Amino acid sequence: MANPKESDVLVIGAGICGVTTAFHLAQHGHKITVLERGDIASEASGVNAGGLGGLGWGNNPDLQSYLTAGSFEIFKSLQLDMGYDIEFIAPGGLQGIHNQEQWDWVRDRVLNYQTQGYHAELLTSREARAIEPEASESIPGFMYLSKRGKANPTKTTVAFGEAASALGTDLRIGHNVEDMNQQTDGSWQVQTNQGIFSAKTIVLAVGAWSKPVGDILGIDIPVAPVKGQMWATAPMPPSIYHLSGSIESAYDWDRQTPDANFPPDITHRGNTRITRHLYGGQSRNGEIIFGGDRQLVGYDYTPNANGIEVNRDQASEIIPMVGKLPITRTWAGIMPFSMDGKPIIGKIPLFDNLFIVTGLASSGFGRGPMSGKLLADYIHTGHPAPVLAEADPARCVVFQ
Ligand SMILES: Cc1cc2nc3c(=O)[nH]c(=O)nc-3n(C[C@H](O)[C@H](O)[C@H](O)COP(=O)(O)OP(=O)(O)OC[C@H]3O[C@@H](n4cnc5c(N)ncnc54)[C@H](O)[C@@H]3O)c2cc1C
Repeated sequence: MANPKESDVLVIGAGICGVTTAFHLAQHGHKITVLERGDIASEASGVNAGGLGGLGWGNNPDLQSYLTAGSFEIFKSLQLDMGYDIEFIAPGGLQGIHNQEQWDWVRDRVLNYQTQGYHAELLTSREARAIEPEASESIPGFMYLSKRGKANPTKTTVAFGEAASALGTDLRIGHNVEDMNQQTDGSWQVQTNQGIFSAKTIVLAVGAWSKPVGDILGIDIPVAPVKGQMWATAPMPPSIYHLSGSIESAYDWDRQTPDANFPPDITHRGNTRITRHLYGGQSRNGEIIFGGDRQLVGYDYTPNANGIEVNRDQASEIIPMVGKLPITRTWAGIMPFSMDGKPIIGKIPLFDNLFIVTGLASSGFGRGPMSGKLLADYIHTGHPAPVLAEADPARCVVFQ
C-alpha cells in the first residue's frame, strides 16, 4: 500500500491560497496533502471583510484583471454550480468622495477605466442614495463599481477545503512545518510536529509567514506582515446594501513618494498615520462591519482603539447612521504584503520543484481563488500562463 504520507504535491498553509491551489491541483488528478499548523482559515483568510471583485476583465486583461475578475467567476461557481452556501452576493461597491479635489481625480480615473473597458461610474450623492439610501448627502459623490461582491471568508475557505477533500486531498490541520529538505532526486521531505511527509513538489502558501518559512530554506521571501483590524456592530435589520468604502486612501497613495522601508498602500509609516482607509458593509447575520488600518507592527493581533475610532469617524462621513451604533466587537489579522506591491506566484528558481503563492496583501481573499488556479495550472502543465510574468518570484526571492 502507498505510504499515506507520500503525495505528488505538499501544499503548506490552508488559507484561501493553499486550499484553492489544492482544489485545482486535485481537479487535474494530482494526489495532494495540505499541511496547516492551525485550522483551515485560522488566519487572514478567516477574519477578513470578504470583499471581492473589482473592475471586471477590461478590454486587455492584465494580471490584476485575471486575479480579481477570474476569482469572481470561481466564487460564483462555488456557490451557484457546486452548491456551497458561501454567502456570495454581488451588489457592487460604492466608494465615497470626500471633497472637490478627490472628485476631480476620480472623474479622470473613471474616464480612464471606461476607456479600457472596465466597469466604473461616477455618481452624485443623490444618485448614490437611490441605490444606497443611508449614503451621506453631504459629500460630493461616490465611485460605483458594479463588479464588486462579497462572501463569508471562513465559509468560503472551508468550502474550497471540502471541495479539495472530495477530490481526494488529504487535509491535515495541526501540522506545523518545521523543516524542509530536498532529496538527491529533487523530491522533498517535510518535517512537521506530527511526522515526516514527502512529495515531489512543495507549494508554499503561508501568507504573512512567508519570511519565517523562507528562513527554513535559507531564502529571503520579501513579504511583510501587515496588521489589518476591523470592528462590528450588533446585528441590525438590512440597512447597507453595497460594499462601502472611501476613495481617500487611493487618492493619498497616488501622491505619496515610495519609502523602501515600507510596502506600498499601508496607512501608517512607523507610528505616523499617512492616510485613512475604509472598507466594509453589512453581513448576512446583520452585523455592520468596517475596517481599514494597515500597519507594519509584526505579528500583533491587538486591535488599536484609536485606529478603530478614526475608522468609525470615516465610516460615519460616508454612511452617517454608522456613527450612532455601538461597537460590539473588534479583531485583527495579519496580511501578506510584498515589498513591491505585486503578488508572488510561480516557481522559486533557486530550487527544483518549489512553488509559491503569496503577497496578495489586502485583497488576497478576492484574488486568492484565481491565484491558486493559475499556480495549479502551472504545476500541472509545466508552463506558466503569460499573465503570471508580473508575479514571477525570480524578481525578488533570493538566497540569504
Ligand atoms: C482585517 C482584514 C480584512 C481584510 N479584508 C479583505 C477583503 O475584504 N477582501 C480581500 O480580498 N482581502 C481582504 N483581506 C486580506 C486577505 O485576508 C489576505 O490577503 C488573504 O487571506 C491571504 O491568504 P493566504 O492564504 O495567503 O494567507 P493566510 O490566510 O494567512 O493563510 C496562511 C496559512 O499558512 C499557515 N502557516 C503558516 N506557517 C505555517 C507552517 N510553518 N506550517 C504550516 N502552516 C503554516 C497559517 O496558519 C495560515 O493558515 C483582509 C485581511 C485582514 C486581516
